[in-house]
Amino acid sequence: MIFRDFINQLKTSGKLVEIQHPVSPEFEASRIAKQTKAPILFHDISGSKVIMNLLGSREELASMLGVPKEEIIRKLSEVSPKGEVKLVSDSPTLEVVEEEVDLTKLPILTHFEKDGAPYITAGIVVSEYEGSMNASIHRLMLAGKDKLAARLVPPRHTYLLHKKAAEKGEPLPVAIVLGCDPTIIYATSTRVPVGKEFEYASALKGAPVELFECENGVKVPHSEIVLEGYIDPVERVDEGPFVDITGTYDHVRKEPVIRITRVIHRKDPVYHGILPAGPEHLLMMGVPYEPRIYRAVGEVTTVKNVVLTEGGCCYLHAVVQIEKQTEGDGKNAIMAAFAAHTSLKHVVVVDEDINIFDLNDVEFAVATRVKGDIDILTIPHVRGSSLDPRGAPDGTTTKVGIDATKVLVEKENFERAVIPGE
Ligand code: MN
Repeated sequence: MIFRDFINQLKTSGKLVEIQHPVSPEFEASRIAKQTKAPILFHDISGSKVIMNLLGSREELASMLGVPKEEIIRKLSEVSPKGEVKLVSDSPTLEVVEEEVDLTKLPILTHFEKDGAPYITAGIVVSEYEGSMNASIHRLMLAGKDKLAARLVPPRHTYLLHKKAAEKGEPLPVAIVLGCDPTIIYATSTRVPVGKEFEYASALKGAPVELFECENGVKVPHSEIVLEGYIDPVERVDEGPFVDITGTYDHVRKEPVIRITRVIHRKDPVYHGILPAGPEHLLMMGVPYEPRIYRAVGEVTTVKNVVLTEGGCCYLHAVVQIEKQTEGDGKNAIMAAFAAHTSLKHVVVVDEDINIFDLNDVEFAVATRVKGDIDILTIPHVRGSSLDPRGAPDGTTTKVGIDATKVLVEKENFERAVIPGE
């Protein structure tokens, strides 16, 4: 599926909100996207089309994967990064070729009050060096007509490729992909073995991913817009402040500069913007970790489902649903979940009769199945998330697990009353 087909699918199913009147790229678009929550297509941001909240709910993720919401986890757990990737010679992305680069012509949005500059937030940076490649989303700050600053987090794959090239004094060829098949967007947000992002996307789709070659040799999927260029081996500029998943400001750092040498795009391209700390950002960051927790808990007991909740920034809080087999399973599930996702801070383990998508139901489990001195596990001084504003300067935190499962021998005390025919 190409990007436009997914937008049309949202439109046909009545889920797409469309705004025809001109909207400012500075604050107004992000404000409207935040209030709207649903997928939203702006027809006129500085004369261009912009889509936001594209994968902003589990319903959209489910429709992308072709499964019901409850089945997302099973689907993601079963797929391994082993699909087919095909190199093709032509692409609709080449409809318009711009040799004269002017990034200010793109509808790059400024999202929050103290942001350092306009930011590209849905750009997949595809890089290739000495036979290895990587594809991952990085925040990209507008730093000039043909210049972006990229936050490259150590020791992730793009950071490592740039480091390798920079040590030899060589620029790293990159192509920034905006608006491709949403399955590919999801796959590049997932930590898969080095260079396997497109294979993984293909396995998720159940169909080959087609790539075409840019002028600088980097191979990319069909997209709305591609920015071709190089990450400079030396040049760095101030990058930030920028809002991360917790909705708080990340500080300014010296980060590498990307020089854009050519822009290619569809006619009348649709630019993709992800609202920082919005549901789409949270789901893209968090959902890829759910299958890891699912598999780890599955090693210690019968796991049913896992959710990283939006209130917990889809990163710091999990609800794990198990079918308890023996007393103590809840505690083992807690330890397995913390081991699988090191940034996880608080986890609640519930039984199969609790709806983990309904936080009232989760609270009900905590209210009726927890005795604090027995069921709450506190683990101090463990590695936490660098994004947690309450973390210690040395990167450690205190993790808390709540075992909100029924006591097996007293099972009948916990029976939930039902009305026949309900
Ligand atoms: Mn990678």
